[in-house]
Amino acid sequence: MKKVFPLIIVLITLSVLGIIFIQVSWINNSIELKQQQREQDMEHAITQIRESVYELYLKSNGVIGYINEETRQFLLRKFTVEGLSDEDINIAINSALKRYNIKEPFEYSITNIFQMPIIKSQGFDRREPNEILEIPLTPSDESTYYETLYLYTKENKNFLHSKMSWYIAASILFTIIIISAFYLTVRTMFNQKKLSEIKSDFINNMTHELKTPLATISLAIDALTNEKVIHDTDKIKYYSKMIKDENKRMNKQVEKILQSARIEKQDIKLNLQKLNAHEIITKVADNVTLQVLDKNGKLTLHTEAEHFRIEADEVHFSNVVFNLLDNAIKYSKDNLEIDISTGNEGDMFVLKIKDNGIGMSKETQKRVFEKFYRAHTGNIHDVKGFGLGLSYVKVIVEAHGGKVKVDSTMGKGSTFFAYFPIA
Ligand code: ADP
Repeated sequence: MKKVFPLIIVLITLSVLGIIFIQVSWINNSIELKQQQREQDMEHAITQIRESVYELYLKSNGVIGYINEETRQFLLRKFTVEGLSDEDINIAINSALKRYNIKEPFEYSITNIFQMPIIKSQGFDRREPNEILEIPLTPSDESTYYETLYLYTKENKNFLHSKMSWYIAASILFTIIIISAFYLTVRTMFNQKKLSEIKSDFINNMTHELKTPLATISLAIDALTNEKVIHDTDKIKYYSKMIKDENKRMNKQVEKILQSARIEKQDIKLNLQKLNAHEIITKVADNVTLQVLDKNGKLTLHTEAEHFRIEADEVHFSNVVFNLLDNAIKYSKDNLEIDISTGNEGDMFVLKIKDNGIGMSKETQKRVFEKFYRAHTGNIHDVKGFGLGLSYVKVIVEAHGGKVKVDSTMGKGSTFFAYFPIA
């Protein structure tokens, strides 16, 4: 799997580049072909014009009907456009160009031996940037006059590109679609990979978390059945308490997983009541005081909010406060100090839990509320967890119409803010 991933990316990138390259060269080739075709058409058209002008000349000299080639050559020795009208020449050029499917407007000029124009269209300009085709109208060396026809079409220089613009636009569009599909595929693959890593981390963590209390319980039961212990009430009490504590710990873990499973199924049923937030926060803080003292820490509480009545679900609200305090204790360093304070911001009640623990990086702060997310703080701490606590906090707070945020400095500590609407 690890090697397939880059291989897929390389293969798709190569094929996308290949497709782009082939398309570009295909479009260039067709432009070139069209250009060549166009040049040939122009050459054919100008030859055709010469023939038509000869016919006009012969007609104006009274030659009508079939004459043999020799007579024709003879008569054409004296060929000149002098006697022909602008209109006739215009028609001759027009119909020849049409025959070769050249529809752009054109300009022409027919010059004499001194390069002076005898007949020319109004807009003819010798400095025209487009290529000017030139063909001698003199049929043979013995001719009297040396007249030359100059002709060009007034098309945009990049007219072929504009003719091909549909193909070019479609190619660009499909290329963009392919690249977008590629991007989406790669992103989905990355997400899936991350998800599967997260899930296996979660399973590892869960197994570990449940295995430790199970092992302790098993040892305690072994001890209880020991002959020396079985008659010692103090020891029995000691081991029973141990079993009870481990049981509680397991219960807590299972409850966390259940909490998260419940919010996953989206069936958070809030039993909303008017609550005294200060009362509940104080209660939860009391419950964790032992843990804090156990770590030689200090917990302070400043219930400063003027409006502390909120409409919330008591159980979920307590869980939120507990999860935040639990983390503040879990991710602590020496001299743990936790400060709980409350306040009001607009029509919100704000709970602020500040610790002086390990803190987190900007990247972690962005992601802590994601399900299963745990920061890889390496050796700094080996606190076990499922990465579910904060995602639960976020879902619950938002279900109450509030929001959560975190402010943290790596190595210095973190402050979590939970906003609830005032009742
Ligand atoms: P868990 O604690 O089970 O890992 P959480 O969702 O509660 O899951 O927390 C997610 C992650 O956020 C933790 O793994 C930790 O890296 C980080 N974190 C949470 N709270 C704190 C805190 N107070 N200080 C530092 N890091 C924290």
